[in-house]
Amino acid sequence: MKIIELLIEHNNYSLNRPFSYVYNGEKTVERGYRVLVNFNHQELVGYVIKVSDTNKSKKELEVELGFNIDEIVDVIDSSPLLNEDLMTLAEEVSDYYLASKISVLQTMLPPSLSPRKSSLKAPKIAYDQFIIIKDYDESDLTFTQIELLRLIQKDQPVLKREIKQVSVLNKLLEYGRVDIIKKEKRRLQIPNYEKVEIPSLTSDQKKVVDEFNNSHDQIYLLEGVTGSGKSEVYLHLSKQILEKGKSVLMLVPEISLTPMMMRNFISRFGESVAILHSELTPAEKYDEYRKIASGKCKIVVGARSAIFAPLSNIGLIILDEEHVESYKQDVPPFYHAREIAIIRSKMHNCKVLLGSATPSLESRARAGKGVYHLLTLTKRINEKELPKTTIVNMTDYHNIDRESYIFSLKLKEAIQKTLDKYNQIILLINKRGFSTSVYCRSCGHIFKCPTCNIPLTYHKSDRMLKCHHCNYCEVDHEICPECGSKYLMRVGYGTERIEEEVHKLFPEARTLRLDSDSAKIRTKIPQIIEAFRNKEADILIGTQMIAKGHDFPDVTLVGVVNADIGLSLPSYRSSERVFELITQAVGRSGRSDKKGEAIIQTYSPTHYAITMAARQDYELFYRKEMEIRKLQFYPPYSFIASVTVASKNEELTIDTVYRIIDILADELKEEAVILGPTTPYVPYENNKHIRSIMVKYRRSEIVKPALEKLLKSSLNKSGISLTVNIDPYNL
Ligand SMILES: [Zn+2]
Ligand SMILES: [Zn+2]
Repeated sequence: MKIIELLIEHNNYSLNRPFSYVYNGEKTVERGYRVLVNFNHQELVGYVIKVSDTNKSKKELEVELGFNIDEIVDVIDSSPLLNEDLMTLAEEVSDYYLASKISVLQTMLPPSLSPRKSSLKAPKIAYDQFIIIKDYDESDLTFTQIELLRLIQKDQPVLKREIKQVSVLNKLLEYGRVDIIKKEKRRLQIPNYEKVEIPSLTSDQKKVVDEFNNSHDQIYLLEGVTGSGKSEVYLHLSKQILEKGKSVLMLVPEISLTPMMMRNFISRFGESVAILHSELTPAEKYDEYRKIASGKCKIVVGARSAIFAPLSNIGLIILDEEHVESYKQDVPPFYHAREIAIIRSKMHNCKVLLGSATPSLESRARAGKGVYHLLTLTKRINEKELPKTTIVNMTDYHNIDRESYIFSLKLKEAIQKTLDKYNQIILLINKRGFSTSVYCRSCGHIFKCPTCNIPLTYHKSDRMLKCHHCNYCEVDHEICPECGSKYLMRVGYGTERIEEEVHKLFPEARTLRLDSDSAKIRTKIPQIIEAFRNKEADILIGTQMIAKGHDFPDVTLVGVVNADIGLSLPSYRSSERVFELITQAVGRSGRSDKKGEAIIQTYSPTHYAITMAARQDYELFYRKEMEIRKLQFYPPYSFIASVTVASKNEELTIDTVYRIIDILADELKEEAVILGPTTPYVPYENNKHIRSIMVKYRRSEIVKPALEKLLKSSLNKSGISLTVNIDPYNL
């Protein structure tokens, strides 16, 4: 008999320990297999972490242990899902983020392999059926049968579904002249890009590559202004690593937004590239995952979760646009791909390259202290000038165009001039939808999401009111449901409204819109980006999605319609976010041989995040923002963890959050600053009332054990769920 220790699929931290079962069956079971078990009268999936043999009977064991021990119901897998490397990684991630081990494993594995019950229904291997010759013999066949036999002979193996004469084929199969073989099919269609010649590096790029190669440091931050050619550095270094027989992990923030990076890698490295990102179907993910695990792919290009790709012998890990917040997962285990990259690089003894035009303050500070090796690209390729940027003060009514009130005279004029020259324009407004909220002018009723209690946004294209936090939506109203008045007001504006305004002011202009509404359909984003590149439109209107790393050679004007969105958010990161967004957006202008221009409309024309972004002066912004962070004891001068309490009972939630504050204050004393409780932006979710606190600290080795104790304590039971988010972004 075997004693099996396993983790249960529920990811509550109080269950974060091995549970023991026994197994008497015929099947093989090892560490890394999934099994079915009964747990608290529920059939669940368990992930095996230890197997040992015993001569004792189940009865004897139970007497010895003092409790009943169940048999596992069934063994699911026939080989371990993760190798020892990845198992170790899972443990380190779980320790760093105070996340249950099972939640980490569930994150690491694709849906079809994940240790959870729902995974058992997910798609598995797909096969193509091919026809091959088994016994080439034309005797006793009809002419049509001989014809097909000869065709197959010439082209074998032939895809079965491509043979139209099904009855003829069936006869050949029946006579034993041909046979069917199955071949595993890769469901993801990797486009077949033309091989491109590798351009030689500029002297600046070459300097960076040499400095990288000649140093023994482990982690590098490549700070390069927009358009300075960071991608070429990545491609060049990747090629060197592949030539050494090692593999490369290339991370991008969102693959659908950066099709160029994927295209560059595929056109240079072809079949050895695997793609992993959240927009693949579960079936495609499963195929790509297995292909990587089998060692057939040497390069993985992917988004956040690709950091867990089962690559072996990693020689280099690259994170492009390392400042982008989507590298941080905002559900448990709340990991950040950069931290995982660093953990993995230590295990593989390889280098990590972080790249950005606007590095996160954390990374830039580490580079400043020599923890990371700082590399810089200060010039645009071919010495292209940065775009000429103007800030327009929207509080001064002289600047505003009376026809629209949304556009300034300056921006309107620049758009017209650009259109006249047949160049392209990008307009950024970091808010989707038509208007930001709707209220009744008679009684003041504000239309809010029933689950999140935040204002609903009006979307004109489908005449719906939508919640931008959850996916709630309702049909737009004609009359107020409270008082019956028909005077409903729509205030604020988003991408849809800007598009309408553009059509009004520039009826001849062709527009495209890119925001997460257009992203609801899977292939839509790359289509829109491609169409804009092909000059099928003159103006691209969008949210922060349009600011990310795109290279549109004919864009000579970028207009930031309202730079202030985000500045007023109650987060210590709000200035950094606004600075990044505007810098990146402005950087889209004038990337080819045409001179670029950018116009920033703002109600805070003297705010340092806006003025420094206009000048693309990262270093100055960095110094200014660091002073503020230091004064306020925020990262990178401290670490932050947030503790969230959720329960169905509001009183219980509030009670518990105060108890936690007392416990932590008592335990940590001067080691931490505890702020809160705060009511989050969305205070009510999934029928639960939510409150949170923020802990600022310097010494993780003291604070983390206290938080872990809290998670394991009796507070995290009976109707309350506690979550800890280490280095949170959503504050
Ligand atoms: Zn009303
Ligand atoms: Zn909602």
